Parts: sequence; structure tokens; C-alpha cells
Amino acid sequence: MEFFKDLEFKPIECPKRGGIDFPCVICQQCEIGEVEVILEEDFLIEKTVNSAIISMLLKLEDEFEEVLLGRFLQSLGSKTSLVMKKPMEGYQVSFFIDQNAIASPEKKRKTETFIQDFTNMWKSAMTKAKSVLNKWERDVVQDVTNRLP
Ligand SMILES: [Zn+2]
Repeated sequence: MEFFKDLEFKPIECPKRGGIDFPCVICQQCEIGEVEVILEEDFLIEKTVNSAIISMLLKLEDEFEEVLLGRFLQSLGSKTSLVMKKPMEGYQVSFFIDQNAIASPEKKRKTETFIQDFTNMWKSAMTKAKSVLNKWERDVVQDVTNRLP
């Protein structure tokens, strides 16, 4: 993504949050945290001086996918701050990027790759889930029909 090319963050002192480098893309309450918005066809970037959020549209086929995505994001979000447990409104997944996420060229590259590959990771996870569900359905229907009088 073009966005990562020269991406740098600077620590700031937020007057509202008491001087520490609170991510101003989340704070959005003071002037230092002015947000630059980049809107593309299938994603939205909100960037501030010390942090950014990238939100993406994922095509969900049905309610089953919605439920699984919700659970998936909750679990992922408790393992990494890169994935937000609740995406920004109107989007299916949001990534939170701060200095930590781009601390070294290696880390920056990994962060970028993770975000770029997310849609494919999700699609492949969905294929797997549906195959597990289909097998479950066949097995259960078989068990139940075996008990038919
Ligand atoms: Zn602030």
C-alpha cells in the first residue's frame, strides 16, 4: 500500500489525555490529533500524527459470515492491538496502527503484509468454516435419519 511507504509517527503530548503519547486517531478530541482522511473504493484511512486506522470493506455473503467475523475479530483483537475488536462504522474490519506496529522496517513490512493479506485470510477461513459446517450437517442428518421409524 502506498500509505506505508513513507509512514512515520511522532509521539505527542495530548492535553486532554495527560501528556502521554495517547493514540490521537482514537482520542480525536484535541487539535494535535487532527485527522487526515483518505477514502478509497474499498478502504478508509484515518491518519494522525502518532497513529492511524485503516478500515476495510469485506464482502460478507450471509449472516453466518457476519457472526463468524464478529467472533473472529473479538478473538484476534484480544491477541493483537493491530486488529480492532469493533470495526469503524460502515466497515467490516479496522486495523489500528501506531509506532509499535511500524517500529522497524521488518515490523512495518509485516504489518503491511498482514493488512494486505487479510481479505484472503478471511476468505480462506470462511471456506474452511463452511466445509466444517457442511460435514456437521451431513453427519447430523445421517444420525437423525438413522433414528427415523
Ligand atoms: Zn488528544
